Amino acid sequence: MSQKRDYYEVLGVSKNANESEIKKAYRKLALKYHPDKNPDDKDAEEKFKEAAEAYEVLSDATKKSRYDQYGHAGMGGGGFGGGGMNMDDIFSQFGDVFGSAFGGGGSFGGSRGGGSRTVRGTNLRVKMKLTLEEISEGVKKKIKVNKLVNADGVTFKTCSTCNGSGRITRVAQTFLGAMQTQSVCTTCQGAGKMIDKKPADADANGLKRKEEVIEIDIPAGVEEGMQLSVTGKGNAGPFNGVAGDLIVVIEEIAHPELRRDGDNLHYEAFVNFVDAVLGESIEIPTVNGKAKIKIEPGTQSGKMLRLKGKGLPALQSYGTGDLFVHINVWTPTKVSKEEREILEKLRNSDNFKPQLDGSEKGFFQRVKDMFH
Ligand SMILES: [Zn+2]
Repeated sequence: MSQKRDYYEVLGVSKNANESEIKKAYRKLALKYHPDKNPDDKDAEEKFKEAAEAYEVLSDATKKSRYDQYGHAGMGGGGFGGGGMNMDDIFSQFGDVFGSAFGGGGSFGGSRGGGSRTVRGTNLRVKMKLTLEEISEGVKKKIKVNKLVNADGVTFKTCSTCNGSGRITRVAQTFLGAMQTQSVCTTCQGAGKMIDKKPADADANGLKRKEEVIEIDIPAGVEEGMQLSVTGKGNAGPFNGVAGDLIVVIEEIAHPELRRDGDNLHYEAFVNFVDAVLGESIEIPTVNGKAKIKIEPGTQSGKMLRLKGKGLPALQSYGTGDLFVHINVWTPTKVSKEEREILEKLRNSDNFKPQLDGSEKGFFQRVKDMFH
């Protein structure tokens, strides 16, 4: 699979570029590689699409921040489709980029293929709750969705408004000179056809609702709020068009014992006071089971242990996070008469007096040391 180019690189802007710089850069590329200027040039068409896709993401604050954080994987990687735009998406975006001359769903002149366009169905959004265990390994999930599908027995005839072209053409003066501008036929939404006969259960677009079970592959390492898109699994498109996407929004179920921080996990371990003094092995939970850790004799409360690779796999790379174990020495809240007698004997022992030699560090210093 070829490596996708970085969106900033595609547009030739820096990561700090503002909205208007991004728009300007895209405008330049869109004009340079526009199909009307480069007829039958596949390479130009690819560049045109690549630029449009980059702009689509970088011009949208939400998509941009997701891309900045996760790169292409955040835009629907990990076996998911998405990303690519078809020509209709690109031309419908032009209204925003080039101003009113091309607004209203209008598009550039006649050389792009001709004929009607395929109407795209809407996206379906579903929430998916996942446990930390599922996130750590990745998981296949079956979900039931209620979506629009093509109804059986629908027949079509040519749209009488646009005579099947799907578009209504006008000639207008634009900054590129005199050009035909076209807007999508509102009767057929550009499909060029309209419903002739339909069964009673179909709506005006020839669609009906149906429950469907869809299996989804969730890659390991996803996070709360992340959106995965499954191409073509959304609502069917009107007039036999293409289906929209299924957007899966990830929700994380809190783990009862482990706390997540990116790819790392944290666990608060409470150890017996005597174990902290004399040393002992204790068992702690990990995301997929248990691990034994050794409490060294003389362990102070607040000590932090790092279990390399026991965190979560990174979505973007091959790395795996760590599990940090925070040691808390548990102080008994009540003691028996016998225990009290033993402890009273120890109260005045020199070894039980805090002996600070300056090597003890405060909590924040330890955290700092751990991460630097
Ligand atoms: Zn029409």
